[in-house]
Amino acid sequence: MDFKVVLVNPYELGRQPFALAQPAAWLKREGFAVSCLDLSLQKLDAGVLEDARLVAIYVGMHTATRIAVQALPRIRALAPKAHLCVYGLYAPMNEALLRGMGVDTVLGGEVEPALLSLCQRLRINGAPKAQSEPVVSLERIAFEVPDRSGLPKLSRYAHLVLPDGSTRVAGFAEGSRGCKHLCRHCPVVPVYQGKFRIVPVDAVMQDIRQQVNEGATHISFGDPDFLNGPTHGLRLARALHEAFPGVTFDATSKIQHLIDHAALLPELRASGCLFITSAVEAVDDDILRHLDKHHASRDFDRAVALTRAAGIALAPTFVAFTPWTTLEGYLALLERLVELQLVESVPPVQLTIRLLVPEGSWLLKLPGFREKLLAFDPALLGYPWIHPDPRVDRLQQDLQASVAGCERQGVARREVFAAVWRMAHEAAARPAPELAGDLGAPIPHLSEPWYCCAEPTEQQLQSF
Ligand code: SF4
Repeated sequence: MDFKVVLVNPYELGRQPFALAQPAAWLKREGFAVSCLDLSLQKLDAGVLEDARLVAIYVGMHTATRIAVQALPRIRALAPKAHLCVYGLYAPMNEALLRGMGVDTVLGGEVEPALLSLCQRLRINGAPKAQSEPVVSLERIAFEVPDRSGLPKLSRYAHLVLPDGSTRVAGFAEGSRGCKHLCRHCPVVPVYQGKFRIVPVDAVMQDIRQQVNEGATHISFGDPDFLNGPTHGLRLARALHEAFPGVTFDATSKIQHLIDHAALLPELRASGCLFITSAVEAVDDDILRHLDKHHASRDFDRAVALTRAAGIALAPTFVAFTPWTTLEGYLALLERLVELQLVESVPPVQLTIRLLVPEGSWLLKLPGFREKLLAFDPALLGYPWIHPDPRVDRLQQDLQASVAGCERQGVARREVFAAVWRMAHEAAARPAPELAGDLGAPIPHLSEPWYCCAEPTEQQLQSF
């Protein structure tokens, strides 16, 4: 009987996961039978899992890890003979907890060689329990063309929504992994520690070609930062545009890169770049220093001006609530979005995000920070904190519930922002000025918003 491997994706922002398709290519090349289960679109399937010898669950984000932790007992029951592996950014950070739940192997970083070695050992030796593969490897690997054949059709995943409401099938590619920066709150940092790894342009383009053949007319690059290697990013954009002039793309880049590499922005736009997601995180210089973001509050304004001048929309993301956030500071964030005409550019969930402190976070290196935290909470997969001003915590909880309700009902971003505006002013006991003037036009965006640390929804937990 074939040695069967099942790769499971709990959730990855509605994207068809590269992190399943790349290992699938490696393992199939060596003759392993690989099945994929994407719980964002499929349910745990007893028929797929029952004869699995290895089940490897990908946790690339906090929400996915929370879903994985809840799904593990059911996976164990459905695949009683399987060796269990959890891999991805959040696996090494949660190693002790995962091993305590019966996970045999934990992998992070460039995981494909370790997954392959694990399969080979299991095929020869049956069920070795001790992990001999490194928990984190940053070894340079030879990327394969991702094998997406076992995943649900691309058209079922998140799609591009244009300002006129029309939609396009989106493909998902990665031109690099890791990051050369060390922002303290970022989950990439504990694993990659300032390193990033390039996926060769040819491999990326072959992956894009197969997704264009599946109907994609837009490509969303999932690199933590598309401009970590600006020459590589530009080469990718040029290659994409040369091969598929009608295909557009989006990418992620930090504020500092948008300023430092502003000269590249017009060519990125001419190559089809519609929007860039950027982790602005805060508009308060002290908070930006605590997070070690290496940009100042007013750099946000410069990045908006530079991307606008190039014809690219900027989609900022935030850590709206931190232990240093005040009610006045939160209002200042909302006011800045109004001032910069970005009300339509921010997915409302971004206005509710609370700083997450997972095990291994570099925030724990910040002098005096650990003292602000409560004991590690396995249900939260992080260290909870309580704001010294209870009104701030209450506002965050109220906003989270209200925004989640609005999103379920499909309320427009502008209306959700107006509700957030009212609630924040009420919390600060200040009259809410009327939201007048140009609040900004809708921008292209993906139908599932970008975030990394929201709580799983009921719907997400119904897949097992
Ligand atoms: S937040 Fe962005 S720039 Fe900072 S370390 Fe993470 S991926 Fe890199």
